[in-house]
Amino acid sequence: MELRNIEAIIKPGTPHFVGDGFRVYNFIPKAGQLSMQRMDPFIMMDYHADFYFPPSAKPKGVGAHPHRGFETVTIVYKGKLAHHDSSGNSGVIGEGDIQWMTAASGILHQEYHEQEFSKTGGNVHMVQLWVNLPARDKKSKPKYQDISKDTVGKYTLPEQNGTIEVIAGSYMNVKGPAFTFTPIHLLHAKLHKGGIAVFDFPAYFNTGLLVIEGNIRINDNRIAATNEFVLLENKGTTFTVEANEQAIILVFSGEPINEPIVSQGPFVMNTHEELNDAFMDYNMGRFGFMDE
Ligand code: MN
Repeated sequence: MELRNIEAIIKPGTPHFVGDGFRVYNFIPKAGQLSMQRMDPFIMMDYHADFYFPPSAKPKGVGAHPHRGFETVTIVYKGKLAHHDSSGNSGVIGEGDIQWMTAASGILHQEYHEQEFSKTGGNVHMVQLWVNLPARDKKSKPKYQDISKDTVGKYTLPEQNGTIEVIAGSYMNVKGPAFTFTPIHLLHAKLHKGGIAVFDFPAYFNTGLLVIEGNIRINDNRIAATNEFVLLENKGTTFTVEANEQAIILVFSGEPINEPIVSQGPFVMNTHEELNDAFMDYNMGRFGFMDE
């Protein structure tokens, strides 16, 4: 097992609003550092750091918009979100829950703060990660995997270091509930103060960490603080994370799909022709219809 070193620690930068309900730091793609190809199959990451929203009679969020060619993974740490799409699907994503949405051939939807949560106001803390689909699956049927906090895989680290929760892929002998189209590990490390976890992924898997809470030391070397993104090299396999204080870390590692990425806005395809088709289909109403 060869050590996997840190390539970069990226600070959160300036947040921007998606609609009026999501105040996010974008980490992927980030000019010059984290292109879609660099983090393939993780092609987009918007990180909503912990932020308070005052009470609002009208739920804040983002209006009707399409997606095609990939999956969106929404993880809620605080707050309560809701969504509905033009096919009549809807749902609520509560604290600790994960929504894995396969947009694939196309979805038109809205995402917003859940009604009662909006009325009360409160903190929202969440991540939305986009996972690319290989060409063979880009036109497959849309679907949802609603993954509640009770169904994620749980591996208890020895000696009270903490717990590894497995959303997709595996950690040691514990598997996650999410179906994925290509090999992906998506984990939470929940570490007590002084807790250590060791990770081992194939060197060619693109791998990163996001510090959701706390402060960590990686490989007994560099420190990453809350809301910082750690990019690991594609050399070596193994790295360690030690919590300087109680910490929650999102850990992701995936096999690159290694296909051309032609994307604009909410469409991520393989060719310009497919991208034009996506815009045409959307403009022709083939994604369905929704009120703003
Ligand atoms: Mn969306």
